[in-house]
Amino acid sequence: MFKRLIFGLLGLLVVALIVIGLLFWIAPRLLPEPTPVPLPTATPLPPSPSPSPAPTPTPTDTFAEVRAAMVTNQIEARGVKDAAVLAVMRKVPRHRFVPAEYISAAYEDHPLPIGYGQTISQPYIVALMTQSLRIKPGDKALEIGTGSGYQAAILAELGAETYTVEIIPELARQAEARLRELGYDKVQVLNADGYYGWQEHAPYDAIIVTCAPDHLPQPLVGQLRDGGRLVIPIGPQGAFQTLWLFEKHGEELTSTNLGDVVFVPLTGGH
Ligand code: SAH
Repeated sequence: MFKRLIFGLLGLLVVALIVIGLLFWIAPRLLPEPTPVPLPTATPLPPSPSPSPAPTPTPTDTFAEVRAAMVTNQIEARGVKDAAVLAVMRKVPRHRFVPAEYISAAYEDHPLPIGYGQTISQPYIVALMTQSLRIKPGDKALEIGTGSGYQAAILAELGAETYTVEIIPELARQAEARLRELGYDKVQVLNADGYYGWQEHAPYDAIIVTCAPDHLPQPLVGQLRDGGRLVIPIGPQGAFQTLWLFEKHGEELTSTNLGDVVFVPLTGGH
């Protein structure tokens, strides 16, 4: 009886050991494999490809797009077609001719103040007047009313030998300095009453007046070459004036009405 009990217990013990052993053998195979955690490696990351260097925008490039849009939307859209005029309007940095506080408005569709109660003309009017002058490279051009110097730069870019007269001494000085700074070295600026033109360099192939007298100044007609063109607004102060194109054929002067405009008055003691 006692022997049977011993053998029974031993048997149980053996069975228990087998079961425990089996459990130890089976368990790791049933549990999911632990996912290996990637160890941080000391290998440095490959350098990220350096971005190709962006072109450094020059101050004028910054405005090239808005200037092109100005030409398309304000000038070509209104019918100015002369390719050379459109090209120079796309090229001349108008924002360099306006006071610092108006730079962001430089390419908008209106005139802007330039100090001393004067204005730089609306881009479309500059283009229209310039096209009417039919400038060819080498032509001699006279401007009355230098203002900022912008219109003079446009004439110079078209290849005209350019003379410009301004009655306000500070504006004449500033415009001359600005034109030099921008490389328009040959444009000549005179501080005088432009009603009388600039006799010394006459006759001119083209004369443009960017301030409005109430009548046609005869000295300007006298300084126009035979076959020359004169573009001028004529009319009352502070109201609409008429923009005229005069063309000289011998003794005869033909006139074409280019439409209504508003310009600052031509001042002076004439
Ligand atoms: N063409 C200029 C804008 C002209 S504003 C530009 O591109 O910026 C008109 C200019 O004509 C003003 O600067 C004004 O001082 C000038 N002006 C007015 N009367 C004048 C006169 N009698 N002689 C010369 N300039 C005159």
